[in-house]
Amino acid sequence: MRAYKDLSKEELLCLKAELEKSYEEAKEKGLKLDMSRGKPSKAQLDMGMGIMDVLNSDSDMMAEGGVDVRNYGGLDGITEAKKLMGDLIDVKPENVIVCNNASLTIMYDMVSRSITHGVQGSTPWCRLDKVKFLCPVPGYDRHFAITEHFSIEMINIPMTPDGPDMDLIEQLVSADESIKGIWCVPKYSNPQGYTYSDETVKRFANLKTAAADFRIYWDNAYVVHHLYDDRQDTLLNILEECEKAGNPDLVFEFCSTSKISFAGGGISALASSKGNLDWVRKFLTIQSIGSDKINQLRHVRYFKDMNGIKTHMQKHANLLRGKFEAVEDVLQRELSGLGIGQWTNPNGGYFISMDVLPGCAKDIVAKCKEAGMVLTGAGATYPYGKDPEDRNIRIAPTFPTPEEMAAATDLLVLCVKLVSVDRFLLNKQAAPLAASQHRAVM
Ligand code: PLP
Repeated sequence: MRAYKDLSKEELLCLKAELEKSYEEAKEKGLKLDMSRGKPSKAQLDMGMGIMDVLNSDSDMMAEGGVDVRNYGGLDGITEAKKLMGDLIDVKPENVIVCNNASLTIMYDMVSRSITHGVQGSTPWCRLDKVKFLCPVPGYDRHFAITEHFSIEMINIPMTPDGPDMDLIEQLVSADESIKGIWCVPKYSNPQGYTYSDETVKRFANLKTAAADFRIYWDNAYVVHHLYDDRQDTLLNILEECEKAGNPDLVFEFCSTSKISFAGGGISALASSKGNLDWVRKFLTIQSIGSDKINQLRHVRYFKDMNGIKTHMQKHANLLRGKFEAVEDVLQRELSGLGIGQWTNPNGGYFISMDVLPGCAKDIVAKCKEAGMVLTGAGATYPYGKDPEDRNIRIAPTFPTPEEMAAATDLLVLCVKLVSVDRFLLNKQAAPLAASQHRAVM
């Protein structure tokens, strides 16, 4: 296949006519496709239904230490749930607080506490003129929504396959006291599926920050979400690295079983140093008289230990792999060599990230919508919904069937081609994509 940049005007016009015909035919099919939802399918949720059977009216409702899970108390979680969630992210139970079903709520609370009361005795952020967060991009829109909600200024940090640009991060945090945090999805990142390298994790742990109350928001949402048995990313333990570096308080780590058990009924956890957790416990005492310990017990009785979680996640992988591969096959077959798009081939997580020609993402998403397919809004993967180059598209293969995913990707590539041809026709000078940092192909 020839790259579009090498086609003459006549060839581009000819191609455009063909593509427009195919697009009209696609529209006539009245498709109803959705590639926007990063959530588990019904079949995936059904795999965890055994969780509903481990407790009934005859069950022993006592957790370790004689804690009756039906009653108040046990503010930071039952002991066995701390162990299970700690094992999930390789952290000691005493460094874990177990919470209700959404890790996003813990993240929101951490920012909120920092604003109203300050981090461990530091000046509350609400008393400061300016508070800033670093945001590796593309990234998770709901992280950015939290910081935007609190009027925290967000600074884009480019991602690479090894993690965010650490030179830039080191330079910024060492010089600017108003930078108080950074959002990280260190394993199978949303949306690219990248995992931070050992060097990146060590550099994070050794950060010298101007602000004493700077914290790394380490959202390990996809820690066991591998797609393959023989191709699995590994991530260094940030808490251990921070401890070694003499920076034990630098990180708040988050995780949940939202994409292990039920997205609407899992359990979540915060892991950090004793100092940070003691600070958080002071707030929890006011906020609640205890979280849902019955669900914690249910999760422990069902999964038992990390082996139980790993076996369960293999079943998920068997279901998800085909969906990811359906997308990758179509992208590879239809776009490689054309110089109009590049994409990631992750070993795990929930997303594939695609970069198209600069200035084309919004038009492609709109064209897909016109033909019956919903994609995550262009720009959603950037703070303030603004992709400065208008080129990133997030693909979420987990919810539809592999057949639907293949049909959806067929339409996506058609729209990518159509919008790109128009771009080259408009401006024959349009620059081809810059040398990619992606692992994947043009
Ligand atoms: N963090 C990341 C990176 C995610 O992609 C998601 C969901 O898509 C979440 C957190 C949400 O997690 P929870 O359901 O525990 O709030």
